[in-house]
Amino acid sequence: MNNYELVIGLEIHVELNTKSKIFCQCEANYFGKEPNTNTCPVCLGLPGALPVPNKKAIESTIKIGQALGCNINLVSKFDRKHYFYADLPKGYQISQYDEPIAIKGAVKIGNKTFRITRVHLEEDTGKLAHSEVGTLVDFNRSGVPLVEIVTEADFNNSDDVKEFLEELRTIIRYLGVSDADMDKGSMRLEPNISLRVKREGEREKKLPNYKVEVKNINSFKFVKKAIEYELIRQKEILEKGETPVQETRGFNENKGITFSQRVKEEAHDYRYFPEPDIPPMIFEQKYVDKLKSEMPELPQEKVARYVQDLKIKEQDAFILTRDLRVAQYFENILKIKNSELSNQAIANLIINKKVATDISPQEFIKIVQAQSTIKPQDEAGLARVIDNAITSNPKAVEEYKSGKENVLMFLVGQVMKEMKGQADPQTIKNKIQEELK
Ligand code: ZN
Ligand code: MN
Repeated sequence: MNNYELVIGLEIHVELNTKSKIFCQCEANYFGKEPNTNTCPVCLGLPGALPVPNKKAIESTIKIGQALGCNINLVSKFDRKHYFYADLPKGYQISQYDEPIAIKGAVKIGNKTFRITRVHLEEDTGKLAHSEVGTLVDFNRSGVPLVEIVTEADFNNSDDVKEFLEELRTIIRYLGVSDADMDKGSMRLEPNISLRVKREGEREKKLPNYKVEVKNINSFKFVKKAIEYELIRQKEILEKGETPVQETRGFNENKGITFSQRVKEEAHDYRYFPEPDIPPMIFEQKYVDKLKSEMPELPQEKVARYVQDLKIKEQDAFILTRDLRVAQYFENILKIKNSELSNQAIANLIINKKVATDISPQEFIKIVQAQSTIKPQDEAGLARVIDNAITSNPKAVEEYKSGKENVLMFLVGQVMKEMKGQADPQTIKNKIQEELK
């Protein structure tokens, strides 16, 4: 029996939080509005209506591209992508084909690199609602700016996919270009999944001759489930000596299974051609550079700074930086705290939710100080006591270095005695270990 390996690429759609839609003045925020009240001739695709591109949407797309390490194409254009569907009034979607705004990026997670193929800008479609009276269509969403991010097929397991998507969502929220809220549909996920036979020591890994796209998944958990389901389904087909059909499948959230929707189109089926109503976009390098210089500190950079400069444990730095508001709150507390409270101690209090975080940083500090019955550790003082314990117990140190690990507890005991119990034994243990390395 063959050993199969997953080959997964991702397509992610993100709705931008611009004020107006991409080609007209209707509001981009359609959420909760009465159906078909947030429309105009342009986003209804009425004859003669002309699109005018939204500068902010283009800028947001460039920023996403830059944050994902892409090259920004100084010449870019919109194209028409034709297909027939009731939620697409023009009969084509204005998208980007061969000259997307950004190409060739990469996101590093741990020691793995996931390549970004392209980042382009397009318009969202309307929305269908199936009811007793039939299928209804709401065009409030039609023309909302949508960024599509496409990765290479660099994933071979669902955990990496989930981690990548979480990082991507965090980056997009840091940029402030979208709320990337999957419940509201402002971030939608489409994995392309296939399997290949695993061969050890292969020089060049070939892509399988088919792929299955699972459409519009709205949670990380469901992406994982869809991938795991496809692994089993495709494996059964391959083991019979057949090739899975290249198709688009939906995901049934209740049953946790995928189901066939339609046979996948090839690019030539869409009859792409340049959008004649919008001139090509030509960006000056100066303009692209300026946008880059305005880029905020990104989540991975923040983690690195917390670890290196603030001496926060990596795992805690990661937790603190997942939500920008939490990270900013933490940083604001550090600005006003006194030297007796260590950065890590503040981090612990926020992470363990020992103190409420819906209060001002000043109040936070006050409460922490009132709560600490034990005087907060004086870091420098503790370091002195540890140094002392090490230098005055050379024999114990020797024994520890020769492999008698339990001598460590003796040294911890010495320090605890000196500190009159006003210190955390685990911290002392770690510090002594570090000193003796
Ligand atoms: Zn409109
Ligand atoms: Mn798309």
